[in-house]
Amino acid sequence: MGQAFSTKAGCAAAQSESFMSATKKTAPAPAGKNGKAPANAKASAKVGAGKVGKGNEFDHPIFHELQLPSDANNLYRQTVGSMLQAADLMGLPHQLKIILAQPKNEIMVHFPVRMDDGTFKLFKGYRVQHNNALGPFKGGLRFHHDVHLDDVKSLAFLMTMKCSLVGVPYGGGKGGIKVDPYKHSKAEMERIVRRFTTAIAHQIGPDYDIPAPDVGSNSQHMAWIADTYAFLSEVGGKQADAVITGKPVEYGGSLGREKATGQGVVDTLVELLPEAGIDIKGCKFSVLGFGNVGSWTGKILQDKGAKMIATADHTGAIRNDGGIDAHQLADHVRKTGGVAGFKGATRIDKDEFYKTKVDVFVPAALEQMIQEPEANMLNCKVVAEGANAPTTPAGERILEARGIEVLPAILCNSGGVTVSYFEWVQNKMCEQWDLDVVDKKLNKHMVKAAAKVREAKKKYKCNLRTAAYAAALERLKSAYEIRGIFP
Ligand code: NAD
Repeated sequence: MGQAFSTKAGCAAAQSESFMSATKKTAPAPAGKNGKAPANAKASAKVGAGKVGKGNEFDHPIFHELQLPSDANNLYRQTVGSMLQAADLMGLPHQLKIILAQPKNEIMVHFPVRMDDGTFKLFKGYRVQHNNALGPFKGGLRFHHDVHLDDVKSLAFLMTMKCSLVGVPYGGGKGGIKVDPYKHSKAEMERIVRRFTTAIAHQIGPDYDIPAPDVGSNSQHMAWIADTYAFLSEVGGKQADAVITGKPVEYGGSLGREKATGQGVVDTLVELLPEAGIDIKGCKFSVLGFGNVGSWTGKILQDKGAKMIATADHTGAIRNDGGIDAHQLADHVRKTGGVAGFKGATRIDKDEFYKTKVDVFVPAALEQMIQEPEANMLNCKVVAEGANAPTTPAGERILEARGIEVLPAILCNSGGVTVSYFEWVQNKMCEQWDLDVVDKKLNKHMVKAAAKVREAKKKYKCNLRTAAYAAALERLKSAYEIRGIFP
């Protein structure tokens, strides 16, 4: 096993909310005593007013009002902080800021499962339902030994923003099980997944909350969830399939769903790379994480004439300046579980991976992997975020200072949920669409979302991340204005 790349912000990093050069920067405001909001906190919530607190830490009055985690490295604080920056910029009403800064429901379950040797183990599961103003809660299930409530809350929050931006009729949700799926037999995983489904069955539903795959979960797991749900719920027959997306094509899944997130990353690059003066044909790229999102992004980019120079996963990093064949590498990963040992490239260390000169760098592994050291090492023109929240605010500030454009995750990786939506529609209509229909419809959503972000960037004179949040918030704001807040 090779050198594992770090995840989770371990840095006591300084953070501010200014990401790109277009964003107004002003002098830092001092933090209040004991981490409390400074007296001028309300005034400093205005964009352009100092929002950088003690130790250069990003601060916002809403953090104090809602008692959000005070640790600047906390993923939830970082993701909500980025949204609040856009919310301030567009003058979003206070009530919407507080609604969106916390999820509606946080569900935690503990459930026992019998192991193959006859003993029982207790597992912890999560389902966070962030917002359903635009439609049912929607978002993946992460199976990972290190998943925590705040990670799931962040990912659920990002789903609300993503669904709004890409124009699908969903809110945001996310869930997971604290489990290493690679350490259990297929039979144990089936019992874990079915028992988890039983624990949350009354909190999900085809018109209420629709999970999907994420890191560590796959289409087989989705099939077990659909089957368990159909068994337990009052939703009859095939209609119960619509409770979950990312199912196998043979069991209610959609053609094109497996590659959808990678396809969406590529569709976004096709739209936005010309603005950075990069031609996709002949463009050089590297990919961090060669799982579902990374491998499909690599394969589709290669098919469009781009060349993958380096890639890395939990087993190590590899490089070939003549190009790594993404299709062959995907076969190798399927057989061996990782990129290490691939014959068509040379093994390199972590630093060399980040320092490899490319046009586009695609982080497609886990959150918070691009911190300050990685941002300083990167030698690229564009970062296309395939993963959710891969760049910390401190990392992003460095990328901005170095003139590296970041295409934000809520735009770049929204292809997955878009095709999940198509799968849900097909289930409800008892239809099966051809792949070219799915691809064409997906492209339409991606092009439209990219255009919205481009417009918001011009309107608010900000970087692409803030613009993406602003565009997402505009749709949510209209929905709340029209429906009101009951009672
Ligand atoms: P996956 O499990 O298929 O792949 C994850 C990859 O990350 C693997 O290659 C793994 O080796 C690598 N990885 C894990 N830990 C690592 C470490 N410490 N260092 C280096 N590499 C490491 O997961 P995925 O579905 O491809 O998801 C990847 C990211 O994309 C996640 O952030 C996920 O939330 C996001 N995402 C996925 C989808 C989807 O449809 N699958 C949709 C939107 C966003």
